[in-house]
Amino acid sequence: NLNTRSKTLFDAAQQVIPGGVNSPARAFGPVGGDPLFIVKGEGARIVDADGKSYIDFVGSWGPLILGHAHPEIVAAVNAVVAEGTSFGAPTEIEVKMAQLVTEIVPSVEMVRMVNSGTEATMSAIRLARGHTGRDKIVKFEGCWHGHADSFLIQAGSSALTMGAPSSPGVTPGTAADSITVPFNDLEAVEKAVVENRDKIAAVIVEPVAGNMGVIPPAPDFLQGLRDVTAEMGIVLIFDEVITGFRVSPGGAQELYGVTPDLTTLGKIIGGGLPVGAFGGKREIMSDISPLGKMVSQAGTLSGNPLAMTAGYETLKRLQVPGVYDALEAKAQALETGILENLKALGLKYQANRVGSIMTLFFTEAPVTSFEAANACDQDLFARYFREMVNRGIYLAPSQFEAAFVSLAHSDADIDATIKANYEALKACIN
Ligand code: PMP
Repeated sequence: NLNTRSKTLFDAAQQVIPGGVNSPARAFGPVGGDPLFIVKGEGARIVDADGKSYIDFVGSWGPLILGHAHPEIVAAVNAVVAEGTSFGAPTEIEVKMAQLVTEIVPSVEMVRMVNSGTEATMSAIRLARGHTGRDKIVKFEGCWHGHADSFLIQAGSSALTMGAPSSPGVTPGTAADSITVPFNDLEAVEKAVVENRDKIAAVIVEPVAGNMGVIPPAPDFLQGLRDVTAEMGIVLIFDEVITGFRVSPGGAQELYGVTPDLTTLGKIIGGGLPVGAFGGKREIMSDISPLGKMVSQAGTLSGNPLAMTAGYETLKRLQVPGVYDALEAKAQALETGILENLKALGLKYQANRVGSIMTLFFTEAPVTSFEAANACDQDLFARYFREMVNRGIYLAPSQFEAAFVSLAHSDADIDATIKANYEALKACIN
């Protein structure tokens, strides 16, 4: 067994960490086997505890758009760390960060920094509720907004209007305020909104779904959401934790030309350190404590200098002209290669891609909904995953995730991945 050291570490981890992991997506549950322990990353590559190197398409689940341990980001963080890691008092880098984010993201006039995507979405819906004086939220099947109680709700069995907890520990009271409707189904949204007139504070959506695999918005879906929420006085929240600074400089809202009221950000904004943010219209953001209606929101380490520096330096490097074209070219080359492989092997699996996020779904029907994504052959995906890992390509260990292409992936990395994809697919069908 080549994974001796990872296995030893995982055995030890399971004694003292539930499931041996600090976030369940890291466990290899859906694909079988034990997770690889990682000791270092450099550019597009990671190295596991047994010294094996992989081309990495997880990129810490999105943040590392510049690749691992980018020398300039590392140098900037190193310079700051020596000056003190946290003060709990305002610092200049927070102002620079907020100025930069408000320049880049169309909907954001004011922004608050937090420490994770979950904190961002949780705070955004509280703000929407405080601002509107309404209780309910609408969210979409298959979208993930982190692990705050209000999001751990699935569609109830009876009416649209009553959600059911999707995790033990979430109360029916909380579930009653979250309405879950199918992604890309504008009619369902309109129905929910009409049935709950004057009760809905917010509609929250991943403008490109990334957490059931990549599913782009149907034409007019986002604009439809914009129209119905504007008409009903509902706060429209785009959760751009994955898509922000990735599918275009200003995220999906820039790419599709639809401006939400509030936006939640995470991942890239921290450059690999723990950062989230929520921002939007000045009028709404001005209801957060210590302003306006004093909607509560706070954080000991929010805006801390290390995290702000890594994020700010990352965002700055994404402003260089041509960066997104280069990223698109890499991702497109990967997609084209995979589609050619599928064709050569007589396979009809579906590849969905928006910019540098992509999912190869092991199903033959177009994937435009959670239901369609669920039709995938997950056993086949598991096989494919193992075949890829064996060939030195590290993918997310689940069918329902994106592959993240970074600026550090070289042409040779992409070519090697396409070659591995061909061999892995071939092995899967034999
Ligand atoms: N929203 C989206 C769209 C996400 O993809 C994630 C995390 N994958 C979150 C929110 C939660 O972010 P975090 O894991 O940083 O709490």
